[in-house]
Amino acid sequence: MQRWNGWGDDSIHQELPRKGRHLLAEYIGNGHPRPDHPMEALLAREPESRMPQHPLISVDARLRLVHAHGQSLPDWVRMRGGMLDRFPDGVAKPTTRQDVDALLQFAGARNIVVIPYGGGTSVVGHLAVPALEKPVLSLSLERLNRLLDIDTASRLATFEAGIRGPDLEAHLNQKGFTLGHYPQSFEYSTLGGWVATRSSGQQSSHYGRIEQLFAGGEVLTSRGLLQLPPYPASGAGPDLRHLVLGSEGRLGVLTKVVVRISPLPEKDDIYAVFFPDWDNSQQAVQALAASGTRFSMVRLSNPAETATNLALAGHEREIAWLNRYLKLRGISRPEACMCLVGFTGSRQQAASAKSETFAIFRPFKGVAVGTAIGNAWKQNRFRSAYLRNTLWDLGYAVDTLETAVTWPKVTPAIAAIERSLREALNPWDERVHVFTHLSHVYPTGSSIYSTFVFRLAQTPAETLARWRALKQAGSRAVVDAGGTITHQHGIGTDHKQYLAAEKGAVGIAALQHLFSYFDPDGRMNPGKLVPDLSSGF
Ligand SMILES: Cc1cc2nc3c(=O)[nH]c(=O)nc-3n(C[C@H](O)[C@H](O)[C@H](O)COP(=O)(O)OP(=O)(O)OC[C@H]3O[C@@H](n4cnc5c(N)ncnc54)[C@H](O)[C@@H]3O)c2cc1C
Repeated sequence: MQRWNGWGDDSIHQELPRKGRHLLAEYIGNGHPRPDHPMEALLAREPESRMPQHPLISVDARLRLVHAHGQSLPDWVRMRGGMLDRFPDGVAKPTTRQDVDALLQFAGARNIVVIPYGGGTSVVGHLAVPALEKPVLSLSLERLNRLLDIDTASRLATFEAGIRGPDLEAHLNQKGFTLGHYPQSFEYSTLGGWVATRSSGQQSSHYGRIEQLFAGGEVLTSRGLLQLPPYPASGAGPDLRHLVLGSEGRLGVLTKVVVRISPLPEKDDIYAVFFPDWDNSQQAVQALAASGTRFSMVRLSNPAETATNLALAGHEREIAWLNRYLKLRGISRPEACMCLVGFTGSRQQAASAKSETFAIFRPFKGVAVGTAIGNAWKQNRFRSAYLRNTLWDLGYAVDTLETAVTWPKVTPAIAAIERSLREALNPWDERVHVFTHLSHVYPTGSSIYSTFVFRLAQTPAETLARWRALKQAGSRAVVDAGGTITHQHGIGTDHKQYLAAEKGAVGIAALQHLFSYFDPDGRMNPGKLVPDLSSGF
């Protein structure tokens, strides 16, 4: 059963190995475990629902609670610390497009705010319930989860937008196809959510980000149905799909999505390659990105992340053996950087991409150690999200910050982001463990993904204040370094104040006018992405 106040299935526990505990204790001190607020106490805080009656809308208290948040760290602090104070007034789980239409008409007639809810995995406050006078409806796409069509000749598949990753892949795999979109939240996030947040998957270098996979679909808006036919290509003016990508529920409700699919690959291997230091490893992956070689993923960890990942892996004997081997090959651990690099496709494609990649890595002193580490990573790639639960129980909070910059800015940006995060809790005399990897590399630059771990404070309000200090310092460093405020997590409420730095005043105004055309009353997920044109909220 899905956990109500944390990540994932409540029967799954991801153990933190002994070495991982020691590393955290050494870097930032022993954790401060805090008791969880019971669900009953949170339910008691729920105000009376203001929702007018409708046969498709439930005002059940538990349903209102679980749709009151996403999975961001502030969401967790409010939920687990008993600070959650805004709840939708009702939840609807429509089963047809006609139901969605009826709900939007009802919302229009009764001045109800609508928050489209996919899998609820947002990490940037997309689902936060606004403090407004109007009733708020959480419109869950959970039951719009069917496969509608597979056109294998055109390699297109059409799904209802609420389908989750595993169900979508099961349908496609049965027919010998895959979408290949694997965000770490894959098990719970939905196709509609991926489109609405411009999501990126772990193997997007091979299959494409969601903007390449999203071929068309249907969006129900206050103005009527926006249809996006899946043409193979078109010269007919601006592409309307790009209005929907990243629209974060502000435009309308995506009910149907057409995606580009690929045949299941014969080979899908991930190798680990170690480099003696950051400079060599960064130059190696930059050269690979520029080469045109078809790799499926590159994940380059800096020395701090390499040490952390190996500590979290457990398997102490095998790691000791690895260290001895790397030393013999001239790589000693404190500076070593681990790179996971994947090859997907036919046997021949994967083999030639692998040999091209290793040839590119050789001048940078890369030492390949086979597929054991990479394939273990692949097997556990959705399990590592459960470590958030484990760390919280041990008294630690963990969050991430991500951006993308052009190549000359990569190394200085990492240094600035890590420094800003490490120093952000100085006023509390608290240390922060920070580590970083490049998660997606492009010919023009790279994404940067930093993880930070800090101790829970005495009170949830204090933990939230620490998180705010970290988020502000890190986001400021991202903007100052010339990076986008997000490579993959979207804007929501948490990145909203930084969006103008990259879109500019004209860009923000254009987006505001666009949303105001589709949603003239400002009732679609207000307060997210950009301020509403008329209310400024
Ligand atoms: C552990 C963890 C790991 C993650 N890893 C990744 C990752 O690797 N890559 C990545 O890109 N993201 C990642 N995320 C972030 C998150 O999973 C993505 O943003 C995801 O795309 C959200 O999908 P969802 O279905 O859960 O949407 P929700 O969280 O429910 O909603 C997100 C936004 O989309 C809107 N929305 C959802 N469905 C629709 C619809 N049908 N029509 C209109 N609007 C809609 C909502 O209104 C909201 O504004 C991760 C999150 C977690 C918790």
